[in-house]
Amino acid sequence: MLYARLPKTLCDEMEKIQRSFLWGYTDQGRKPHLINWEVCCLPKKNGGLGIRRPHQMNEAFIMKMLWNLITNPQDLWCRVLYSKYCRNKDLRLSINSQPYDSPLWKALTDIWDKFQQNMVWQLGDGNTINFWLDKWMTNGTSLINSSSQTIIDTTLSVLDILNLVGDWNHSYVSENLTTSMTNQILAIPPPNELDVGEWQAIWAWRGPHRIQTFMWMVVHERILTNYRRSKWGIGISPLCNKCGAADETVIHVLRDCISATQNDRLGLAGCGGLLRNSDGNWLKGYSRKLGNCDALHAEMWGMYLGLDLARREGIMHLHVESDSKVLIDMVTKKINFKGNMPTLFIESPPGELQRILFDDISGTCMPRNVRLPL
Ligand SMILES: [Zn+2]
Repeated sequence: MLYARLPKTLCDEMEKIQRSFLWGYTDQGRKPHLINWEVCCLPKKNGGLGIRRPHQMNEAFIMKMLWNLITNPQDLWCRVLYSKYCRNKDLRLSINSQPYDSPLWKALTDIWDKFQQNMVWQLGDGNTINFWLDKWMTNGTSLINSSSQTIIDTTLSVLDILNLVGDWNHSYVSENLTTSMTNQILAIPPPNELDVGEWQAIWAWRGPHRIQTFMWMVVHERILTNYRRSKWGIGISPLCNKCGAADETVIHVLRDCISATQNDRLGLAGCGGLLRNSDGNWLKGYSRKLGNCDALHAEMWGMYLGLDLARREGIMHLHVESDSKVLIDMVTKKINFKGNMPTLFIESPPGELQRILFDDISGTCMPRNVRLPL
């Protein structure tokens, strides 16, 4: 039952035994079957007895194997089946069997159509879904037959059809697909990297509901930024009003914009970080309360304390990672500041100070002119 398709007659026979047992069949005679067998097989919450029908159980077991075959292709038994029966075909396009194939493979191919009809795609990050070949559309079809072009790249994943900010690439979609298909795709929320657990994390966060709602909209990229407004064709420039240097996307406003993240954002801050060895294993962590400062300064303190700690530990070869793009650009000198200049740490004394410092260390006396009030 677990790995071969049972003949229908066998399943019917098994059900007959189940029915007889339920209603008390004996050699002396047959007792009335008071409730329809179909009703008895319904789940208890729907008024039945929850009896599982052998035929459906058999199909469910085989579908479970198909599911494992797709989701865990690296398992040994999956690799054996793939190498033996795939015959250089893409399983997602067609799956078929020959008369001399094993009962297991025949059972899998028999159930494939039914399996696909009951399968719903969750886009996830879109990286493992083939844009043209997989049946990821809501109506369960693949896009390959809807292409308006004669030549298409069938290696593209759904992730490849997104632009830099994670929206559908309108021009690619409309150039390669019919208008109705294009509209259907644009109506589907583009994939993002959050899985179910991460969505739950937003709602499990203990804080004001309005901030939860805000985070939920941020993740959906539905904050009314200039970029979003321009996408909706309201005739607004997508550029950031504050810095004018980049499109005003959500991530720009909240993290990357120098002007928005520097101005008037003083608050209680802390910083922290960790050191890992080249295998990625934990060596040491650190954190510190900083008092009042803005986000960029907190990031700078974080990096400084980390570098200091690494030096004290005698670590000479170090890769530094930070999630502050501004800080990284500052350190790698890719950035020019206009206006409000943040504090910079100076590693070696500037030229004009070097002589004074030298004099101080060597104890040189220097005459000074002092004006005395008379
Ligand atoms: Zn900006």
